[in-house]
Amino acid sequence: MGECPVCAAEVELADDTMAGELLVCEDCGAELEVINTDPVELAEAPSAEEDWGQ
Ligand SMILES: [Zn+2]
Repeated sequence: MGECPVCAAEVELADDTMAGELLVCEDCGAELEVINTDPVELAEAPSAEEDWGQ
């Protein structure tokens, strides 16, 4: 279990989750990057909301 840095909800990690993976907080929908797995450390992923279309 990790903790969402955005809303502090518990985020479930798969047993084979590796550092660098991205996952989505089911509580707030934030995209999170796995910084570390032991201990679990999560950070908000770089925003994907920016406009890539230009
Ligand atoms: Zn969250």
